[in-house]
Amino acid sequence: MKTVGIDERTVEDRREMEEILLAAKVGRLGICWNGQPLIIPVNFVYENGAIYFHGSDLGLKTEFLRRNPDVCFEVDEFWGTVPASVPCEYDTAYRSVVVSGTAQVLSSPEEKTVPLRLIVAKYAGQDAAKGLTPLMVEEYRSSRGRETAVVKIRVKAMTGKRSTEKPTRKVE
Ligand SMILES: Cc1cc2nc3c(=O)[nH]c(=O)nc-3n(C[C@H](O)[C@H](O)[C@H](O)COP(=O)(O)OP(=O)(O)OC[C@H]3O[C@@H](n4cnc5c(N)ncnc54)[C@H](O)[C@@H]3O)c2cc1C
Repeated sequence: MKTVGIDERTVEDRREMEEILLAAKVGRLGICWNGQPLIIPVNFVYENGAIYFHGSDLGLKTEFLRRNPDVCFEVDEFWGTVPASVPCEYDTAYRSVVVSGTAQVLSSPEEKTVPLRLIVAKYAGQDAAKGLTPLMVEEYRSSRGRETAVVKIRVKAMTGKRSTEKPTRKVE
């Protein structure tokens, strides 16, 4: 990914970027097809250099992804507003990561099951994830009669930024 304007806010440490990705509960998927950009928030997991999310197989998101697999994905932590003596110098304290990658809509129940277990474990706990089998994944249909789509984003590059300091006094 081409970077312009690297400054003291750049996070260069890959481990710190991965820490942000692992901690985030919501990621913003950036997709584009036929001149139409779209941002979709999703729950996700980051595992072994890839991002996985799941959802209905029906809708613009998966339609776009099948037509153009080049995606961006963004996560952030908003720590607060940092006060200053003059309004123009107020700042935002944050950490964030922007990923670029290639998306693949996984097709077999076997390849979907492991990422689905990871997603269920992250959001519903390990106990809920244990019982998930490829057969359950294969047989599940949403209320609209559709399969669950699981999307894998192979991370090609990532950049990170953080504010120079955590605020000592925050404006809530
Ligand atoms: C915190 C959070 C977590 C979510 N986690 C997941 C997840 O893990 N998996 C998942 O599939 N979905 C998740 N969603 C819902 C997701 O954002 C989409 O709404 C959903 O996936 C349907 O997308 P689609 O492209 O198939 O929509 P479609 O039904 O095809 O509709 C597309 C149209 O709806 C608009 N639209 C789509 N989503 C949103 C939105 N969130 N807000 C406003 N307008 C929208 C688009 O601009 C577009 O015009 C989450 C939403 C939030 C806010």
